[in-house]
Amino acid sequence: MSVPFSFGRQFDSWCIILNMKNERGTIQKTVLLYETDGMIREFEATVTGTSDQGDNGYGIILDRTAFFPGGGGQEADTGYLVTSGNEKIRVSGALLSDGEVIHYTDSAIDCGEKITGMIDWDRRVSRMQDHGAEHLISGLVHARFGYDNVGFHMSEDETVIDFNGPVSEEQIRQIEQRANEIITENVPVTVSFPSSDEARKIDYRSKLDLYDNVRLVTIEGVDVCACCAPHLPSTGLFGSVMIVNIMPHRGGTRMSLVAGINAYRDHAKLAGSTAKIMEMLSSPRYETAGFVKEMTDRMKGLREENTQLKKKMTQLVSESIIKDLEKEDQPGKGIKLLFCDLPDMTGLRELVNSCTKVYSGTVCAFLKKENGYGYIFSVCKENEKEASLSGLARDFNEKCSGRGGGSNVMVTGTTGASRKDIEEYFASIVP
Ligand SMILES: [Zn+2]
Repeated sequence: MSVPFSFGRQFDSWCIILNMKNERGTIQKTVLLYETDGMIREFEATVTGTSDQGDNGYGIILDRTAFFPGGGGQEADTGYLVTSGNEKIRVSGALLSDGEVIHYTDSAIDCGEKITGMIDWDRRVSRMQDHGAEHLISGLVHARFGYDNVGFHMSEDETVIDFNGPVSEEQIRQIEQRANEIITENVPVTVSFPSSDEARKIDYRSKLDLYDNVRLVTIEGVDVCACCAPHLPSTGLFGSVMIVNIMPHRGGTRMSLVAGINAYRDHAKLAGSTAKIMEMLSSPRYETAGFVKEMTDRMKGLREENTQLKKKMTQLVSESIIKDLEKEDQPGKGIKLLFCDLPDMTGLRELVNSCTKVYSGTVCAFLKKENGYGYIFSVCKENEKEASLSGLARDFNEKCSGRGGGSNVMVTGTTGASRKDIEEYFASIVP
């Protein structure tokens, strides 16, 4: 929310200070046209106050406005103020402050000027569709489970609602279906301003325990809720509503919904993606999930088969190397250099572990990788106490463009050096 008066307010420039009462009988300096009619997209008004340019632009106050100044989770309207000289001035936002709606503009307008206000209608309608659908879903959840909407946030793409109780996927799909039936029934949505006494007799949803100056939005026969925002006059105009995400949240349920044009956009995006999947799988419409499940099951099987093959390959290579090692004269505590053709570093580790059981010196094993080699150096158990492989790894890394480390008994790493360079390095360190 922007700061209401970050600019210097000049009271000298005020030409009319309105002191009107609204439907609730409270002092309202700007007549809020959207409060009683959410369908006004253009209106005539007179500039009654201006202020100098601040962080949000110029501040223009009108005697009446259809610009919603934001509140209750819904953003302020944007649009234009068109002057009598036909100058189209951008309104980037609005804010209600002390009974006046301040319209933030990119140009100044003289006090007393007659203007035509124009709301960015597509944006407003989309917000009203999402907001109306939120009332519908919240009302149905409240009626069925008694849960309250305890958090509500609208963005350009979706609306997020938090309920203070758990709702299952199946239950929310039933609520979603009922909401869409009510949309199809085109139920009237009305606005009323009950007196405090009348308000006490009405059962309505409200985030605050208020009975004074209440504005009620009623979806006839479905929901009554205290709200300050503009609304569409009947549920048919919501278009449709879809719950696109549900998750447990702080002991309750968080869900995201899309309605009207946003529901269409969401569907269009998903349909585009699904169409590509259907084409790749040659799957009939509505049956992609079964096809994908079959494919992921098959992949799981192949992955398991692949793991088994890698293990088998490691075992065969290890057996052959160990057989050769066992045949060799044990060269005391020397270094055994191995270049192995194995599937991965896990295999190399298994091989090294097997080798150090039969070889009394240090095993330095290398596995060919895309840009060089992966390596593991290790010693046999009997020589662990005297081993100092960290020092060897440090020296090797320095001379053979390597990276890595570990303990004195085992180090792992990678090197960008060639086999020839590695062999020359080890030849150079043999005493
Ligand atoms: Zn509302």
